[in-house]
Amino acid sequence: MDTSQKMFEQACQVMPGGVNSPVRAYRAVGMTPRFIRSAKGAYVTDVDGVEYIDYVGSWGPMILGHAHPDVLSAAAEAMQGGLSFGAPTGRETQLAELVVSMVPHIEMVRMVNSGTEAVMSAVRVARGATGKDKMIKFEGCYHGHSDSMLVKAGSGALTQGRPDSAGVPASIAENTLTATYNDLDSVEQLLAANKNQVAAVIVEPVAANMGVVLPAEGFLQGLRDLCDQYEALLIFDEVITGFRLARGGAQEYFGVRADLVTFGKIIGGGMPVGAFAGPKKLMEQVAPTGPVYQAGTLSGNPVAMAAGLAQLTILNEHPEIYTQIEADAAWLAQQLRALEAEYHLGCTVNQIGSLLSVFFTEHPVSNYAGAKSSDLERYAAYFRAMLKHKVYLAPAQFEAMFVGAAHTKQDLLATVEAARAVMAELSAKA
Ligand SMILES: *Cc1c(COP(=O)(O)O)cnc(C)c1O
Repeated sequence: MDTSQKMFEQACQVMPGGVNSPVRAYRAVGMTPRFIRSAKGAYVTDVDGVEYIDYVGSWGPMILGHAHPDVLSAAAEAMQGGLSFGAPTGRETQLAELVVSMVPHIEMVRMVNSGTEAVMSAVRVARGATGKDKMIKFEGCYHGHSDSMLVKAGSGALTQGRPDSAGVPASIAENTLTATYNDLDSVEQLLAANKNQVAAVIVEPVAANMGVVLPAEGFLQGLRDLCDQYEALLIFDEVITGFRLARGGAQEYFGVRADLVTFGKIIGGGMPVGAFAGPKKLMEQVAPTGPVYQAGTLSGNPVAMAAGLAQLTILNEHPEIYTQIEADAAWLAQQLRALEAEYHLGCTVNQIGSLLSVFFTEHPVSNYAGAKSSDLERYAAYFRAMLKHKVYLAPAQFEAMFVGAAHTKQDLLATVEAARAVMAELSAKA
């Protein structure tokens, strides 16, 4: 038994499933998780000293690589001044100003501690500002674990919301309607059937929590138009896409305006930060200027603000990073498709910006039903074999692969060589 296995057994005694967030438990890939000792640049090292090329990147935040020296020193310096005051600091304004300068169509920001909190609060603002209760979300899109967002469709996409988790009251879930990603008709039908009742449509502009699914040409603009027509707000959940697709996130990348945007992951540089943002008219609805209550003891934490500020400053000053990571991810996707053409495992590779996914299905994947057609056993076998070859992928099919600025050409080549060996093995077994 290796050290990770021992540590996992111990963890399972005192934490549900041995973890603080379910996907970390590796259940989808039938293994016990690697416990991580440290990480640097593009690599994570487990407690047995095995080093892996990392494509999880803490699920997105590590766009510059792990333990970036500027981010670490900014956090360390802030730490010397005290960990938390529960009172305003200059860094909060600095980070808010930087976010406003990078992201189109926003004038004000409220910092919170996670993506979940950001979405939960943005939804409250949308409801408070419109006086309407219903929300439309898309099947397979993840918006954190607040009650009203833990809903996907029942059997039909147009049925009323049914909670996806025990403990979510039906009375809350029924205000969440579920549409099909990339299907504007499914949205219009819900808007028409619930006239003057829908506060907002919330979407991941690139869906990255059912694996990576690209918005079809015109889909996001179509949502914008439908929201205008039916007087609903459009919320872009940019917890993954924010500061990743481009400095200004999906609004910049696709040229489509959202009314409210939510951030998380990258914005904190690896510290727990989330944020929601929008024009003054909407953001001034938030307490203390407006009637929508929202608060946080540790919100705007000085160390977290310093880390976020350091990371966003680098991204803002080096737009070439985006060109590089997008080109790297496109190259990786192209190599993986070439391997598929050689070994015929039945994979589909989706890629946009620095995000990609290998789906073990031959169907094009453009929505949740497509993603679900994947062979999960195949993915699990692929994951385990890649891990043996020292490539650390997400331990579940329905997650993204994150390429970052720390991945070198050599890392990418080593990854393709690992994938070649793994695909050859898997196709020999098939
Ligand atoms: C990760 C994620 C969230 C939740 O963020 P947490 O920080 O995990 O609470 C919300 N929305 C999207 C799109 C995410 O990827």
